[in-house]
Amino acid sequence: MIEIKHLAKKFGSCAVLKDVNATIQTGEIISIIGPSGTGKSTFLRCLNLLETPTSGEIVVDGVNVLAKGFDVQSLRRKMGMVFQQFNLFSHLTVLENIMLAPCRLRRQKPDDARNEALRLLKLVGLADKANSLAEELSGGQQQRVAIARALAMNPEIILFDEPTSALDPTMVDEVLSVIRKLAKTGITMLIVTHEMRFAREVSDRIFYMDEGIIYESGTPEELFNAPKKRNTYAFLQRVDLLHFALQKEDFDLYHLQGQLQLFAENRNLSEKSCKRLRLIAEELLVNVLFPQINALEFDLGVAKEDCGILIRCCWQGSTADPLAHLPEEAGVAQMILARQCQKIEFKPAANGGELTLTLQGEWQQFNP
Ligand code: ADP
Ligand code: MG
Repeated sequence: MIEIKHLAKKFGSCAVLKDVNATIQTGEIISIIGPSGTGKSTFLRCLNLLETPTSGEIVVDGVNVLAKGFDVQSLRRKMGMVFQQFNLFSHLTVLENIMLAPCRLRRQKPDDARNEALRLLKLVGLADKANSLAEELSGGQQQRVAIARALAMNPEIILFDEPTSALDPTMVDEVLSVIRKLAKTGITMLIVTHEMRFAREVSDRIFYMDEGIIYESGTPEELFNAPKKRNTYAFLQRVDLLHFALQKEDFDLYHLQGQLQLFAENRNLSEKSCKRLRLIAEELLVNVLFPQINALEFDLGVAKEDCGILIRCCWQGSTADPLAHLPEEAGVAQMILARQCQKIEFKPAANGGELTLTLQGEWQQFNP
């Protein structure tokens, strides 16, 4: 239904979208997640041409909407949008807000528009508020009216840009429930959201946006249970990551330890944890990995919630567990690692391997 190819958008010299590619099928529910400022809103706004892309292609139902002379209104009729700020006319009634666009833009007869508006108000659970002024409603109710207003144009696709971000937490669920109900009607939906549990439950697919692209996409299970890429993992696990590509030939232990120390101190890890981290890095790299492997990626992750620490080393080449057949002189290193880490796990890969070490969070240590 929608095909997006090499979509790019620059604001001045700032490239917000660099190369966005996606194909969206009719009836699909897609949630778009990612850190703020990564262009999620810009992406939605490009789709319905509220922004003009710098380059790339957007094809909707076989029609290139970026072609010269394309009728933007025909696209807007097809694609409704719901914003973070509900943007209702506060001095009009709920009914008037919903009837406005169908009467003006679609030249619907007022009676038909009213009947349709009443039907939609029932759908969003606000039939009894038809004649209230928009400003008299709560935020959650206003957003439900905004959803009814978008539906009144009978769109095939509906874009939600953080529909619950401006709401008091007590009103988030009523809006999510309405969106959940809509999802079952077969309408195509793209939802930018920070509600992870909701995204997971309602979506057919999830797009994780970062670095100006759809950095990773997949089913909710794939993305939440087994993210393949570093930033996705860090975002979903609420982890801060520090990354190094290390080579045996120019490996500088003291430089690495200095960087680890700085990173840990900035996250308020205790001196004890900093020390453990330096010790683990030394034993792991100097005595276990570099005698066997020439180049590796080293990631340190610190969980924001409990300061749990995760160290992950990946390499190409050997698919053997580097801890399995250590020479005798590395026995001490192995013992130290086993004592300092809660869990050490080796996973062979197609053409290499991965070793993950987990250290318990400080919060857990202090609150057994
Ligand atoms: P997100 O929705 O993921 O938080 P946005 O799409 O709102 O991200 O913004 C991405 C980046 O583009 C931000 O750095 C923002 O400042 C910039 N940006 C968005 N709209 C404009 C604009 N109209 N003019 C200049 N910069 C903009
Ligand atoms: Mg946004």
